[in-house]
Amino acid sequence: MKFFIYGPPGSGKSTVGRRLADDLGRLFVDLDQQIEECAGMSIPEIFAGSGEADFRKLEYEMLEKVCSSSHPAGVVALGGGALLNAENRELAEQSGLVVCLRATIDTLLKRLERDHVQRPLLGGNIRQKLVDLLDAREQHYASFTRVLAVENVIPGELSRQIQIMSGNYHVAGMGQAYDVLIGSGGLSDLGVFLRTRGLDRPAVLVTDKNVGKYYSGPVLETLRAAGIKTSEMRIEPGESNKHIETIVRMWEAFAEAGLDRNGLIIALGGGVVGDLAGFAAATFLRGVDWVNIPTSLLAMVDSSLGGKTGANLSKGKNLIGAFHAPRLVVADPDVLATLPETEWRAGMAETFKHGVISDPLLFDWCGQGLLAIKQRAEAVVRRAAAVKAWVITQDPYEREYRKVLNLGHTVGHGVELASGYRISHGEAVAIGMVIETWLAERCGICQQGYSERLKKTLSTLELPTGIPADLNREEIIRGMKMDKKRADGKVLFAISTSIGEAIPAIELSNWEKMLLEA
Ligand code: NAD
Ligand code: ZN
Repeated sequence: MKFFIYGPPGSGKSTVGRRLADDLGRLFVDLDQQIEECAGMSIPEIFAGSGEADFRKLEYEMLEKVCSSSHPAGVVALGGGALLNAENRELAEQSGLVVCLRATIDTLLKRLERDHVQRPLLGGNIRQKLVDLLDAREQHYASFTRVLAVENVIPGELSRQIQIMSGNYHVAGMGQAYDVLIGSGGLSDLGVFLRTRGLDRPAVLVTDKNVGKYYSGPVLETLRAAGIKTSEMRIEPGESNKHIETIVRMWEAFAEAGLDRNGLIIALGGGVVGDLAGFAAATFLRGVDWVNIPTSLLAMVDSSLGGKTGANLSKGKNLIGAFHAPRLVVADPDVLATLPETEWRAGMAETFKHGVISDPLLFDWCGQGLLAIKQRAEAVVRRAAAVKAWVITQDPYEREYRKVLNLGHTVGHGVELASGYRISHGEAVAIGMVIETWLAERCGICQQGYSERLKKTLSTLELPTGIPADLNREEIIRGMKMDKKRADGKVLFAISTSIGEAIPAIELSNWEKMLLEA
């Protein structure tokens, strides 16, 4: 997908376009600059020499060029009138996503006066010319579906908003960077996505029996259509199969299929399939490429991002593992239609966590309940995944900031362990978020009443918010101290200080005593 950044002169198309291209690891192209290079003269010279009509002709030709799929441009900043012509507009809209930037006259004027670029349509009394131009184009700019107000928003944030609109992210920092594509219909486009990234190689599709029965067929079909030779293996579903024997079966299936270093492993399923197949990919032939197609909400917003792979031992969860980033992640929210209700709730605990850490709008959506969430599943997955994608790009190997994702997990793991896993991970994390925030409140790190606010929203999502009475508090504390995330014997907490803000790892004084009272 190509991105076209459009809007009136001075709206910041090039700045935003450059930042977006940088974030997405794509090539940035400024259409006006390309026209100037091609014509061997500046735009004012083209206007002066042969007039606007000739300029528009050149503009159409250049747009046609950058729109072609063989052109490497990924993000294109357009001239302020480039899409006035219906033909141009159709060309851009068919080739990708058009985003129109909007700003007030004062802002536009301030920026135009600052940047000293000569603009042929704004010569003379610039304010009056701009007023006239915006009057004439008012309806035109307002007619775009994707409009972003740029007032007081930094380019990085505008880029983030465009990424969320499109469901396209690019995760860097661990080995080779990779794209994350989230969108309805993505499953049937998988073959094309792989081919355009040079990943159309002999593949083994790994899935579990629950997911395979619905989605192996369509996936194998799109791979076949892309000319990708694929064999399939299915594992038994569920956490109880997340162990080394299942990985041994995967290695054997890869060898059986004749997979070599150039082969590809495709994981189709929830976090269990992703973690296992990713680990099998990390270790088979000392590492082969893999692609992750998460199918549960939890896998889409959490486990498929970040390159952590692994399996359980009888002594504990995820005790073996490796960092092995996938080459591509494709999440199609349509597949959530078959996800069981309990799995929705499990994924909602982490989705809610991402809202609390850094997305107040996502937090508000959570407050509207599970049904409302399901009705806007694609947007929810895009927002929640954006938070994790952003965090792991800042700190891929969890040196510091990535630890914010442990919100609710310190107490949560203790609760999970003490319950003998009767309480699911998602439920335990929900409880953990409330209790940890309550502890932080009592330490004066966040405002009184904040934990109540989290509690109310989690209840709306039908998630538990308190430690069940029959659970032994001392057992929970023991579990927390055993947690592998403890550093130098200290128990550390990720704490949210207000909606959208969190700190990665701090000690809380007297937490044991307070927890006994919780
Ligand atoms: P899961 O893979 O067991 O999936 C849950 C259940 O839903 C399974 O029965 C599965 O078959 C089924 N399912 C999945 N998608 C479906 C669909 N679209 N339709 C119908 N059924 C579907 O569990 P999960 O909750 O996806 O993931 C949990 C695992 O993820 C845990 O093992 C956890 O340790 C791991 N995890 C890993 C990371 C990481 O960074 N790697 C992060 C968080 C969690
Ligand atoms: Zn978790």
